[in-house]
Amino acid sequence: MRDWLSHRVVSSPDDVALVRAEDGEAWSYSDLDRLVAETAGRLVAHGIGPGDRVGVLTPPYVGTVGLIHAAMRIGATFVPLGERLTPRELGERVDRADLSAVICSESTESDALAAVDDVPVCSVDEPAADAVEAVHDVEPEPVEPAEWSFDDRLCILFTSGTTGEPKPVPLTAGNVYSSAVASAFRLGIDPDDRWLVSLALHHMGGLAPVYRSALYGTTVVLREGFDPGGTADDINRYDVTGVSLVPTMLTRMLDRRGTLSDSLRVVLLGGAPAPDELIERCRDYSIPVYPTYGMTEAASQVATATPRATKKRTDTVGRPLFGTDVTVVDEDGAPVPAGETGEIVVDGPTITPGYMGVDDPTAAFGPYGLHTGDIGRIDEEGYLYVLNRLDDRIISGGENVEPGEVSDVLRAYPGVDDVAVVGLDDEVWGERVAALVAVDGAELSAETEPDPADELPATEEGVSGDDAKPEGGVNPGNETEEAPASAEVTTPGDAIDDVELMSFVRDRLARFKIPRTIAYTDELPRTVSGTIDRDVVRERLVETGYEPRDGF
Ligand code: ATP
Ligand code: MG
Repeated sequence: MRDWLSHRVVSSPDDVALVRAEDGEAWSYSDLDRLVAETAGRLVAHGIGPGDRVGVLTPPYVGTVGLIHAAMRIGATFVPLGERLTPRELGERVDRADLSAVICSESTESDALAAVDDVPVCSVDEPAADAVEAVHDVEPEPVEPAEWSFDDRLCILFTSGTTGEPKPVPLTAGNVYSSAVASAFRLGIDPDDRWLVSLALHHMGGLAPVYRSALYGTTVVLREGFDPGGTADDINRYDVTGVSLVPTMLTRMLDRRGTLSDSLRVVLLGGAPAPDELIERCRDYSIPVYPTYGMTEAASQVATATPRATKKRTDTVGRPLFGTDVTVVDEDGAPVPAGETGEIVVDGPTITPGYMGVDDPTAAFGPYGLHTGDIGRIDEEGYLYVLNRLDDRIISGGENVEPGEVSDVLRAYPGVDDVAVVGLDDEVWGERVAALVAVDGAELSAETEPDPADELPATEEGVSGDDAKPEGGVNPGNETEEAPASAEVTTPGDAIDDVELMSFVRDRLARFKIPRTIAYTDELPRTVSGTIDRDVVRERLVETGYEPRDGF
């Protein structure tokens, strides 16, 4: 096959391929094809060709969609890098994904680019750094669309880095194609579909709809960045029929706008566990929510629940997609009976051939497929439930504690918004249970007071992140740290009575499961994919956590 856009421009040239949400400007498939042919020609004139791995550091705008298809047109692998990377992170990504070139834009910080030395860098618009050539400085060369086979590497994506350093995951054209097919079998396709992309394009949740729409001949509505009200309004304005969201985004949109446009046919909700209340809220407002479990390594969805399935079981992510095998295994890698928990192992045509930049790319693969590091179970009827990650399990005094069980109890207490439960090193118990509790920010901000047990660094004062230039290379800000930067650690103030909360917990949990360290915040730190950033949670708890007044 050739690149998907060049097939699409033959079969539906006049259909709308892309709409820019900011101003409503639209590109038909033939308009987009012209843009892509030009971009591809410029890449070739810059010496980029078949088999090259093209790193891309541009914002989620129309030019990036052009680069996605242009890379495929010339037979190169698209490697989105994310926008806000420190020099160290960028240098590491260039090495680990073995990049042949890097494309940046005028918004790319030039000091980050200083870390890229062995690889040519060019910019899609006026370059910010001297050493960078502008892509448009050269005449585009004519390009014959490259031939692709299913085994060729279409893109390399970095995982979100929830459990460690982000890992580069190559996905073949076959992986992404199979995922688009299986997704269509579960969600259906309407020729008039318009999918709003408001997740980052360097994340599978954002990139998958771009590839998929070219295959289906449907429309992408592209929005640069997320804001709860604005995104909800775009759905209305453009009669959007589908959108992928992580649970925190959906919650914030509903808080802001009450409900969502009834043009929606699919709200694909994944990346992190969806709270029961959120699913129930969607049901009450007839929002067609499809909870899904997916990962970079599986080119997005592994299992997806339909609204019908969630009617009976709010907490399921549904049955596996067509062609994907899901097996739950025990510690020895043997399948467990239905209903029992174990590690989730996935196999099928959407699964990556193996990680890059590691000694053994298939170390995480066993006889049943890729070991995901997630814990879950499959019920008698074949529905999958994702509980938490293997790494998250806490062993305290030899007893296993599932963080999910503890956070469910805390979350049930009135006024508690969200909870992250982790294990902290403990001399006596090996690990001790600790909880970071998010309490409604609006009530809290007025009540903020220093924790008596700790000297809290005041987070309110000082320059905003935008103005503060990182010094001496100690810039902690990768893309996952935007949200936590605004969150404050606080005491519960008047919003929650600490003593009552602890007695509530004591009535419901065995002694060894009760959190021994607790801290409060107005927002949990999360990664780009919406999962809780447990390392930051741990740091916060170590820095500001205290033992609840009414001990145990
Ligand atoms: P890393 O692999 O670097 O630690 P990551 O696993 O968070 O990061 P992604 O591939 O973006 O990177 O995320 C996939 C993971 O997100 C899954 O393995 C799972 O842990 C979590 N996840 C996705 N969907 C759900 C869901 N519906 N419920 C619970 N967890 C989910
Ligand atoms: Mg992972």
